[in-house]
Amino acid sequence: MKILNILLPILVVTLTSCKNDSTKHTLTASSHQTEQKETVKVIPINHGTLILESKNDILYIDPTGGKEAFDGQQTPTYILITDIHGDHLDIKTLTALPLDNTTIIAPKAVIDKLPKYLGKTQITLNNGSSFTPKNITIEAVPMYNLRAEALKFHTKGRGNGYIITVDGERIYISGDTEDIPEMRQLENIDKAFVCMNLPYTMTVKSAASAVLEFKPKQVYPYHYRGTDGFSDVVNFKSIVNTKDNAIEVLLLDWY
Ligand code: ZN
Repeated sequence: MKILNILLPILVVTLTSCKNDSTKHTLTASSHQTEQKETVKVIPINHGTLILESKNDILYIDPTGGKEAFDGQQTPTYILITDIHGDHLDIKTLTALPLDNTTIIAPKAVIDKLPKYLGKTQITLNNGSSFTPKNITIEAVPMYNLRAEALKFHTKGRGNGYIITVDGERIYISGDTEDIPEMRQLENIDKAFVCMNLPYTMTVKSAASAVLEFKPKQVYPYHYRGTDGFSDVVNFKSIVNTKDNAIEVLLLDWY
């Protein structure tokens, strides 16, 4: 009894604090759920490959990794391809996916390499042009290298970054790029997917500097495996949030 008398208050306190804690968790979870319902859902697949789910559309960005990488996912209404390299354009994966009702959107350099039978329609979109079917706007924006030693990787005008406007959100996909002026000048971006890997794109520092300038509401570091391993995305988050706490940095499980 004595033990119980001593234990009981502790137990009550513990239970109460647990209860408070779980209430907090429930609140967070439910506000996240509400957010998921109202905003576009992000599904990271690998490296530069992801799925965006809006109310009416399923967008695959740079699908790679074979059909199995998309097992259990909804079939795409749109596929957006940024560039010709194998981590963005993977004809083997595209051929294996069910694309009878899919519109493929890509720059000319990619369309030129695509077998014509792929997809319901293939749309060529180059830097500066946009495509506005029902419920969605897809705008192609520049992506290219700046450092002299990296110019060979991505020449200006060949590949596309994208701005997707859907369900009231503006979503930026950087593609493979450095911190170009066109990125720094972006406005009203809700979600930004920003690459950071050497030698192909840019450093964590350059990516953070650009993000601090265009101030997206949320930023998702992606495409961060380089020849020397993974870029330090935790450091990216810390650089961004030390200077601007309003930008939410979301570290997802990409690899
Ligand atoms: Zn790449």
